[in-house]
Amino acid sequence: MSARRTVASGGTIGMLGGGQLGRMTAMAAARLGYRTHVFTPEADSPCAQVSAAQTVAGYDDRDALARFAQACDVVTLEWENIPVDTVAFLAGLVPVHPGAGVLAVTQDRALEKGFVNRQGVATAPWRPAGSAAEAVAAASELGLPAILKTARLGYDGKGQVRLAPGDDVAAAWSALGGVDCVLEGFVDFACEVSVVVARGQDGALAAYPAVENRHRDGILARTLAPASLDPALLAEAEAVARRLVEALDLVGVLAVEMFVTRGGRVLVNELAPRPHNSGHWTIDACATSQFEQLVRAVCGLPLGAPEAHSDAVMDNLIGLEAERWPELAASPGACLHLYGKAQARPGRKMGHVTRLFPKGQAGR
Ligand code: AMP
Repeated sequence: MSARRTVASGGTIGMLGGGQLGRMTAMAAARLGYRTHVFTPEADSPCAQVSAAQTVAGYDDRDALARFAQACDVVTLEWENIPVDTVAFLAGLVPVHPGAGVLAVTQDRALEKGFVNRQGVATAPWRPAGSAAEAVAAASELGLPAILKTARLGYDGKGQVRLAPGDDVAAAWSALGGVDCVLEGFVDFACEVSVVVARGQDGALAAYPAVENRHRDGILARTLAPASLDPALLAEAEAVARRLVEALDLVGVLAVEMFVTRGGRVLVNELAPRPHNSGHWTIDACATSQFEQLVRAVCGLPLGAPEAHSDAVMDNLIGLEAERWPELAASPGACLHLYGKAQARPGRKMGHVTRLFPKGQAGR
């Protein structure tokens, strides 16, 4: 199926995955007159609540996928772990952005880090650890402290363990389930930053300014936009994101998470081929949000302006923090976003709140 196609307003965007990223994309799509059809195994998903149509089925249900493809003009995704087979099957029936090749790389930390390094971009030192013996050898080569991460399906700090000198590396590998892992040298970073960059069907790029991310318990807690870093480092972070989105030949949105070391090096940590939590501030502080950029990119529209009209501080509302919503709703400066999730489990992202400041006055 030819991947290049313009979808006019009124068309239907298929969304694989039903979470808040899909929800906010569907809301941006609606603003431009598009309908969203969400495909997710989950009933009453945050995305379905704001979409024109939904299919609730497994990602391996070929009949349901074929009917979904028929109902959509283009398909995108809000979760990078959609099975590659699912995306490849759909791509035979309807344009899908980003494509199966991008997912194959970004679903696997070892493939992803190898890919990044081949583009001449630095990561933390790392080694594949596909067995206990390989993990032990990697630890003696890289030294401890280090972090052992499952190659696949990790998120928000899940599927990883920090190893201190003297720790039992083989036991740690087994505790992660005896699956393919990577061992990464521990980075003593000054801060964590990310850049969200959109790429259109015509290859045009639009990068948002680099932002600083602060985590709590492995989960993003706060994003400060823009990051207050040396301008040369900000420019380098943006250049890295541009280089990687082009090398991936990705149409859509790519988020690049990076460490800035105390020595002033920029190291890529992770790629996400979709809108990213650290880009939520763009809804309220930019003429075009990351979600609208995804819609524009996959529908073949020109990308919008990524410049920010304000500085922003975005706080996630995690678990019971969302119970603060009445107070936040009463706070005039707070742009409140709630995702429609019924159950506030610990660690679950329930919403976020963005506060805007005149440029240069975010008061950090
Ligand atoms: P990840 O799931 O890879 O994004 O890791 C979650 C968080 O763990 C990151 O945002 C960092 O705060 C921390 N982290 C991950 N890898 C490293 C590393 N190699 N060195 C130091 N901290 C790390």
